[in-house]
Amino acid sequence: MRSNFTPFEAASRGEIRALQEQKLLGLLRKVSGNPFYRRKYEECGINPERVRSLEDLRMLPFTYKRDFQKDQTENPPFGTNLSEPLENYVRYHQTTGTTGLPLKWMDTRESWEWRGKCAAMSLWASGVRPSDVVFFPFAFGPHVAFWGLFEGTFQIGALAIAGGGWNTVQRLRSLIENQATVVCCTPTYALRMAEAAADNNIDLSKSSVRLLIHAGEPGGLVPSIQKKISEAWGATPYDYPGLTEVGAYALHCEHQRTAIHVNETEFILEVIDPTTGEPLEDGNMGEMVLTNLGRTSSPGIRFRTHDLVRVSTAQCGCGRTFRLLEGGVLGRSDDMIIIRGMNLFPSDLGNVVESCLLIGEEYQIIAYTKDGMGEVKVCVEPGKGRDPAQLCKRLERALRERFEIRIPVEAVPLNTLPRSDYKSKRFVDKRTAS
Ligand SMILES: [Zn+2]
Repeated sequence: MRSNFTPFEAASRGEIRALQEQKLLGLLRKVSGNPFYRRKYEECGINPERVRSLEDLRMLPFTYKRDFQKDQTENPPFGTNLSEPLENYVRYHQTTGTTGLPLKWMDTRESWEWRGKCAAMSLWASGVRPSDVVFFPFAFGPHVAFWGLFEGTFQIGALAIAGGGWNTVQRLRSLIENQATVVCCTPTYALRMAEAAADNNIDLSKSSVRLLIHAGEPGGLVPSIQKKISEAWGATPYDYPGLTEVGAYALHCEHQRTAIHVNETEFILEVIDPTTGEPLEDGNMGEMVLTNLGRTSSPGIRFRTHDLVRVSTAQCGCGRTFRLLEGGVLGRSDDMIIIRGMNLFPSDLGNVVESCLLIGEEYQIIAYTKDGMGEVKVCVEPGKGRDPAQLCKRLERALRERFEIRIPVEAVPLNTLPRSDYKSKRFVDKRTAS
């Protein structure tokens, strides 16, 4: 049986670059007929035909979520990021709008098949095969994530069961009765299903489920959440990372637990300094910028994700040559703290603090404004038997060694800070807009 869904997944870096370049030039030819990008490039005085190589891509301006939102507000109902006549579009989706106006996204038959291909590559990498029975405990509405996986399941040739319109117990009974081997849902819902199973004397570990594919939330790559899910289900959880604006850009292969491969035959990845926009070498944490290559009818070109990632060029045991993102998305560039001229990320601070703490010791990073300037401090809960003053001193020293600035650390009594599985929840932003 093939280990890859598409032949290029184990190609040399040179072959991958050549393929990316060829697809990029085709994409840019097509967007000459796309009003959104035509206007954008005209405003910057840039002719996209001058882009002749991957390096030249940097000549083009970045695209932000707010650009799409503004375009859709000014050009209702669908905006102008449409490279083809409206009659060619066959699918409509929209975002939840948790960070502003919901974004609408339209697909042609061709771009929908491309979304399915990306999902199929991702499912295949996580071990889904044509013999699998894939259960979707999801009410199919306007959000795209599970629709993409549903199409990907079809392209692999596995059996898909749509479990919308049922309550949790009905879904559990159906997935057991029909011997589902894969379940696609959010990590939160996987745990809720496990609770409902326990409450109704349903033994999930005796089900045929061997894999869970998680979308919609970041928990699929968080070790503590993975542990809870695999213990409850007796199955392995995988992540399916994606963004409505660009699509499902990564593969979580069977050889990695917390790292994901960027799907580099379908996307161009750039990692930039979020302040200057300058490219960063692999190994440095920076903001992920993505260009999708197969959705030419409504593309995302140099899309600023605001997600912070770190690229590793380590070889993966699966044989794929696509670069890895260690730990997936490490934080948000919007959380960046500028303190005394230095850019700090809460996740970086968190890594230093965590390296000095024992199990059960909690912390919180608080950013605030003082006299119009950015400041940051760390609150920590020392465990039983720890000298609070000594721990604070040790943390301050470790932070100064790493960041070369003084960051105050305060001890607070045990069990006063909120507990969370997410690193992001340990960051409190009290800064006022200047
Ligand atoms: Zn791999």
